[in-house]
Amino acid sequence: MLIDTHAHLNAEQYEEDIEEVIGRAKENGVEKIVVVGFDRPTIEKAIELAETHDFIYACVGWHPVDAIDMTDEDLSWIEELAAHPKVVALGETGLDYHWDKSPRDIQKEVFRKQIRLAKKVKLPIVIHNREATADIVQILKEENASEVGGIMHCFSGSVEIAKQCVEMNFYISLGGPVTFKNAVKPKEVAAELPLDKLLVETDCPYLTPHPHRGKRNEPSYVKLVAEEIARIKGIPFEDVAKATTENAMRLFGISR
Ligand SMILES: [Zn+2]
Repeated sequence: MLIDTHAHLNAEQYEEDIEEVIGRAKENGVEKIVVVGFDRPTIEKAIELAETHDFIYACVGWHPVDAIDMTDEDLSWIEELAAHPKVVALGETGLDYHWDKSPRDIQKEVFRKQIRLAKKVKLPIVIHNREATADIVQILKEENASEVGGIMHCFSGSVEIAKQCVEMNFYISLGGPVTFKNAVKPKEVAAELPLDKLLVETDCPYLTPHPHRGKRNEPSYVKLVAEEIARIKGIPFEDVAKATTENAMRLFGISR
């Protein structure tokens, strides 16, 4: 059994064939999927999917790229949704310095507001980090995010940073890039981090694992991520599947 801890089945890329995509996930042992919303339309769709499929859960938050658009009403709405029985985490939130739609000071403010909300509603936080590692680590420390912990989603940093995040009560989630031949850091992280700190995800429809790179990603491919971690660690695939599933269920408070 596997859990895809980060999927965007709420994306328009699945409008035509979502039930087939879900069917392939189940055939490949993916028994639970966390669908992540990051703005009004994607949050609404994530909630809808969680309400209509017992094995789908929702994560709700505001993306740093669009931080400039988040209103106080949006934040209150996310707070209301946090009480929904199928909402298991707050995010994705964080910092993204690759795109400059939202100025950095606004991104930081919106990130801090969501960390404070996560602590208030007692949900783990799902962190999106692009080219902003130092500021993310600093803000997580300053806001005492370890109180709720969470996930460093699609982690691409060094072993050293991964260990700092683990100390702050965060799990390290690996996605498609760990399967790329030229990916050095994710493979080192997979090798060095203990199994009880790792999660697997697809971030579909993006970051499709080898050998499907370039095509649309989907939750069934999370198996390729777990297989690569098993290969790197030199342990059976079943051990990776079992540990990452138990980690996810513990963090999200999901029971079988
Ligand atoms: Zn995402």
